[in-house]
Amino acid sequence: MSSKMLGKLETVFSYTAHFILQSWPEKRPGILFLTDSGGRIINFMDMHDSQSGSSLSDAARHYMQTQEVCDYVSEALSTKEIVVKTKRENTLVCGAFPLKELDGSVRAVIGMLIPQREIDFDLRAYMRGLEPLIRMGYDAYIQHATGQIVTDLTLHDTARDLLGSLTRQISHIISKGHCSAVKLSEDGVLIPQEIVTTQEAEPGQAHIHQLVSRVGNTPVTSSVLDDHRVIVVPVSLNDIPLYALFMHLPPEEKDCVYDVRDIAFLQEVAEKSSCALWRAIMSDDLRREASKKDLLYQLMSKIQASIDVNDVLHEIVTSIPSLYPYFSVELFLTVEPNATTPVKQLSFQEVEPSTSTKAYLEGRLIAEEVGEGDQRVTVIAAPLLGKQGIYGVLQVTSEQPISLSQHEKDYISILADTAGTAFENAQLYQQSRNLIRELRLINEMARQLNKSLDLKEILDFVTEMMQATFDAEFCAILRKQPGEDKFDVLSSSVPAFNGTVVNALEKPFQQIMQSKQTLLLAQPGTGPLPFSLFSCCSLMGVPLVVEGEISGVLLVADSRYHFFSFDDYKLLEIFGQHASLAMTNAVLHNEMERMVITDNLTGLFTRRYLNERVRASLEKDSYGSLILIDIDYFKTVNDTFGHQVGDEVLIQVSDLIRHSIRDSDIAARWGGEELAVYLPRVDKATAHSVAERIRECVEQETSPRVTISCGLAKWNRELDVNLSVEALFHQADIALYEAKNSGRNQVVLA
Ligand code: GH3
Ligand code: MG
Ligand code: MG
Repeated sequence: MSSKMLGKLETVFSYTAHFILQSWPEKRPGILFLTDSGGRIINFMDMHDSQSGSSLSDAARHYMQTQEVCDYVSEALSTKEIVVKTKRENTLVCGAFPLKELDGSVRAVIGMLIPQREIDFDLRAYMRGLEPLIRMGYDAYIQHATGQIVTDLTLHDTARDLLGSLTRQISHIISKGHCSAVKLSEDGVLIPQEIVTTQEAEPGQAHIHQLVSRVGNTPVTSSVLDDHRVIVVPVSLNDIPLYALFMHLPPEEKDCVYDVRDIAFLQEVAEKSSCALWRAIMSDDLRREASKKDLLYQLMSKIQASIDVNDVLHEIVTSIPSLYPYFSVELFLTVEPNATTPVKQLSFQEVEPSTSTKAYLEGRLIAEEVGEGDQRVTVIAAPLLGKQGIYGVLQVTSEQPISLSQHEKDYISILADTAGTAFENAQLYQQSRNLIRELRLINEMARQLNKSLDLKEILDFVTEMMQATFDAEFCAILRKQPGEDKFDVLSSSVPAFNGTVVNALEKPFQQIMQSKQTLLLAQPGTGPLPFSLFSCCSLMGVPLVVEGEISGVLLVADSRYHFFSFDDYKLLEIFGQHASLAMTNAVLHNEMERMVITDNLTGLFTRRYLNERVRASLEKDSYGSLILIDIDYFKTVNDTFGHQVGDEVLIQVSDLIRHSIRDSDIAARWGGEELAVYLPRVDKATAHSVAERIRECVEQETSPRVTISCGLAKWNRELDVNLSVEALFHQADIALYEAKNSGRNQVVLA
């Protein structure tokens, strides 16, 4: 195995030449040259200042290029010994000094060509003495190169820049393998997250990372590893470890190793650069300190302004890593985390409490080393302190055991406190906002429900409201069948379920019926709930109680676990109360409405209702007929048989009319003993026969017997111009008057 030389041959040669020339007898001309290992001349110089005396002739220069020179250089290369010969008819003395590497190989030759007449001493002996001069040349070269590197370092003011330049220059000078710098902890242990390397490509990165992990947690000392393929030199100032410099040959580079000169050089650079490096690290620290304050301020103002709990949590989790890039940051909360927040839930279940649990329980920052064997990490946990309590824990973990300064700990505590306060504020705000939202909702619901007395409308509205409020996959209103263990779906968010029947003995219904209270089912991990209508894992139900009896149930359900919160539960309860009330009102109203449209004595519709129906018919139908009926000489009936019998006759006539008409026709008590029948979409002729039929029935079937007179009017959208209820009644009234005048007991057409 051969080894490369430190630095470039020519550069080293120029330093060595300097020392040779100093030892060279004054005013003696000659040529000093350097060849590479193939004997090719790569540099040469006059050994005497040409201006101050006899310079080397052009002939000597020319001779330097000849085969003869080549030959004796080759001899030196192959024998590895000094060669001295006299050439050119004894006018020139030629010397060749093989430059031996530490392993004995010859990498170059220093040659000399001197005129014979100038030599009055033993050149071979002189050349033997070159050895220490060459070493001095090397030393000078190292000194110079180091000096240049160190001067250059002052130009950089961040440690990273500085190390980038340092490693590049070292690697350029040593010119084998790669140079890397790895940060050291206070105890001199490598911090693998902070590496600067000249080996930018991925496989090379892996090489230095693998080296670093091999060194592991032991403090770094100057050492040569892997059969001179890796050199490590720590850089420290006043015993404070700063960085470790690595020179390392990648596995694929097989034909060279590092030698003592490389090691000496690296050590020299390490010693000389420590001051500049320390300064750069300090100014980095100062800058980071300043930006930390800045960030803390920004974070504080951002999260103080935020009223969204989620935003606050996000802000904390995303901004802290920029301060501690090599730490992982986690947030633990006591409340159940929402899926979108980057937090975990504090666990109190472990036998051995975790660092974060301890920090929470003790209410103070805790920093400790945890883990087993080599896998030890440093965990710093700070409680999120608010004014009213502790909301969770901010946890910072370093993969490497580290010791934080009090100052750093204080900083993390401040961050955690800020987060705690902001979290508390946001939570209070959210709570009050939820409360307001609920009040608004209830208010709106009460207003809407009071407005409507239509049962269908109420059902639809309550369903819609449940859907919008709980955002669940299924919601429904169910009515209990009186006296049966069954529920009908009256209205549902999934219309296909409307009208279906559910067994009241199903578990959720049974529970509601028994407790008469709102039910919330959301047990995790137990699979779908025992509810046949809709497969779900979360379910809430509230009974609709009317006069102490359960008349129905409001249901909301979702397939996700834990879908409903306690707030939802309370809200549904309020929904239930309002819905119960509204439905009771609607039922009562329907009853009243029915009572108002019928006449008490006769059971016929009221005049108001008849008017409405005629008006509606005039709007939507194209024709219709109206019969006005008046009992003949009714006063006489009253006078003869009494008012009571009069009433009975009135009822008899009414019943006869009702039986003579179809369901779509409307018979009403028009007033006193006057009655009316409206026949929508019935023409004059048909209406006439209906009137005749009624007239005949009354004549034959009343007891005491009475007769009636009828006035008939019809309308037709195409023929009549001014259609109105009043006009129609007026016409019928005129016809009735005529019937009376024409002898009664007859039907007259208008
Ligand atoms: P006609 O219509 O044939 O001209 O003779 P009439 O005797 O029926 O005369 P009119 O229609 O003017 O009289 C109405 C009478 O009907 C007056 C009132 O005593 C009687 N009457 C009105 N409403 C009721 C009622 O609800 N019950 C009873 N028993 N009588 C009523
Ligand atoms: Mg009358
Ligand atoms: Mg009458």
